[in-house]
Amino acid sequence: MINDIISYHLKHNTIEKKHIVSILGFKRNSSEQKKIFDYSRAVKNKNTAGYISIKAVIEFSNYCIKNCNYCGLRRDNEKVKRYRMPKEDIVRTAVETAGLGPDTIILQSGEDYSYSSDDICEIISQIRQRTKLPVSVSLGERERNEFREFKKAGAVRCLLKHESVNKKIFENSNPDKNLEKRIDLLRYMNYLGYVSGSGNIIGLPDQTYEDIADDIIFMRDENIKMIGIGPFIPAENTPFQNLKSGEINLTLNAYAATRLTIPKVQLPATTALGTIDKTAQEEAFKYACNVIMVNVTPEKYRENYVIYNNKAKMDFYDTYNNLRSLGYRVSPITENAVNNKKYGG
Ligand code: SF4
Repeated sequence: MINDIISYHLKHNTIEKKHIVSILGFKRNSSEQKKIFDYSRAVKNKNTAGYISIKAVIEFSNYCIKNCNYCGLRRDNEKVKRYRMPKEDIVRTAVETAGLGPDTIILQSGEDYSYSSDDICEIISQIRQRTKLPVSVSLGERERNEFREFKKAGAVRCLLKHESVNKKIFENSNPDKNLEKRIDLLRYMNYLGYVSGSGNIIGLPDQTYEDIADDIIFMRDENIKMIGIGPFIPAENTPFQNLKSGEINLTLNAYAATRLTIPKVQLPATTALGTIDKTAQEEAFKYACNVIMVNVTPEKYRENYVIYNNKAKMDFYDTYNNLRSLGYRVSPITENAVNNKKYGG
């Protein structure tokens, strides 16, 4: 099978569902897994810039009108201490963060409409003017015209996870979300010219390898440029709180399968993976992943953004130093910013 996968890839620069399903089933440290990870590493090196991109995430509000069964921020979780960062705090955080050297600022929140479109546009355009960095929005579902306005204000990337293209799994996990609407919005983001991001969760109830393969093929066919794949982690006070976490090995296999299916994709080694197993997250950079997200939300808010339990804390410089000590390169923007700080440039 391995040889079939590699020769198909050499010919078509992608792989198909049956190949993905095989890769997902590879056992930890098996000879098949080692071989496919080696090949995936070569594909990654050929198709990406050869460095790891550090993106900064500001989680500016943990209010959410939705009630996803796996998420600690769900509307019905009364144990969460809710916060909303004022607009000026969000911009200040972004400006301070820019000095550290991330190559993108990601504005992330629950679905919180108390920030109007105009508010979001103002935040985006001020961050753009004052930092010159690309801005991503990850705010859940909004109306089409709002995404158009965000784009005009200067947002270049837009993230909206589809979670699962299997409707049954999607509806079981997201009782008040609409899969068709999300797919429609993803298509509209591409139409608007956003660098679009999406992703799925590994380990949702009743999910099979075929389902995960369908997710990856879906993202290839929808021309998704950045893909966040993280293992499910149970969150307290949610309907899924007693379920088992998604498997690490399956997540690692999904990264390799995604790299082969969409060779140029921006693929984060997710914080969810790092929360369960930091070594696995570091390993993922070797053969598939090329992005890491660092949370720069001010400390006083951060502990309340609890999508799942025990979320890993990642400091910008710790992340940078760790990646460098493991022998990885980071983007020139980050390298220059860190050197300027060190040598007072
Ligand atoms: S996953 Fe997103 S939309 Fe769902 S409850 Fe959590 S923050 Fe809200």
